[in-house]
Amino acid sequence: MYRKIFSILTRNLIGFGNRAVHPSEGIIQCLSLTMIIIASGLCISLLFFPGAKVKWANRHVTFDKSFHAQNLDHLCNTDVNHRPWEYIVIHHSATTKGNAARFDYYHREKRKWEHGLAYHFVIGNGSFSGDGEIEVGNRWKRQIHGAHTANAACNRVAIGICLVGDFENSDIPTENQIESLVRLIQYLSRKYSIPSSNILQHKQIHQKCTACPGKNFPFAEIKTRLLQIASKRNDLIQEL
Ligand SMILES: [Zn+2]
Repeated sequence: MYRKIFSILTRNLIGFGNRAVHPSEGIIQCLSLTMIIIASGLCISLLFFPGAKVKWANRHVTFDKSFHAQNLDHLCNTDVNHRPWEYIVIHHSATTKGNAARFDYYHREKRKWEHGLAYHFVIGNGSFSGDGEIEVGNRWKRQIHGAHTANAACNRVAIGICLVGDFENSDIPTENQIESLVRLIQYLSRKYSIPSSNILQHKQIHQKCTACPGKNFPFAEIKTRLLQIASKRNDLIQEL
C-alpha cells in the first residue's frame, strides 16, 4: 500500500517513477517535498506581510537615501518664537550607534531630565538613523535650553549638535555626517548671525572635564569648509 502511494507521488511529482521506491525512501522524499512547499509558502507570505514591508522600507531609508537634500528651512522651522542663539556647540555621542530617540530615552528615563534629549540636533551615522541624517530634537521644536554642557548659562544660548559615534576611541565621522554638519552649521550661523569664533567643540567649554567630540573629530577641516563657503558667498555677493 505504502509502496503504491509513494510510487505514485514520486512518479508524478519528482519523476522517480522509473524505478522502485522503498517505503522509507518515499516517506523521506514526501517529507522533503512538504518542507520545500512550506518554506516556499513562508517566503512568499513574508513578502506580503506588513511587518516585512516596514522592515525593508526602513532598511532602504537608513542605508540608501541621501540626506544632503534635507530642506533645512523646513527641518528647523518651529511653531514658537526663536531664541536668540549665540553659540553652536558640537558633540559626539561617545557611542558607536544611536539616534535621537535612543538618546532621548536615555536622557529622559535614566538621567531623569524632564525635557529628554540634551541636544537640539542629532546627526546619524547609519546605525539607527540615516548616515548623515539630521534629526531635530524636542528642545529645538520648543526652542528651549539645551542640557549638553555643564554650564547652565551656556546651555541657554548654545545650540547643541551631536554626531553619533565615538570619535575619541574607535570612530571617525562619516563623510555624510560632516557634509550634514557643515550644512547645518552654515544654515544656523547665518540665520542667527553666529560668528565663526562662537562655533565650538564641547571640550573648548570644559577643557578639563571632557574630550568631546573626541580626538578624531576633524574640527579644523570643518572650520575650513565653513570659511570656504562663506568666502564663495561673499564673492557672489560682490559680483552681484
Ligand atoms: Zn559633548
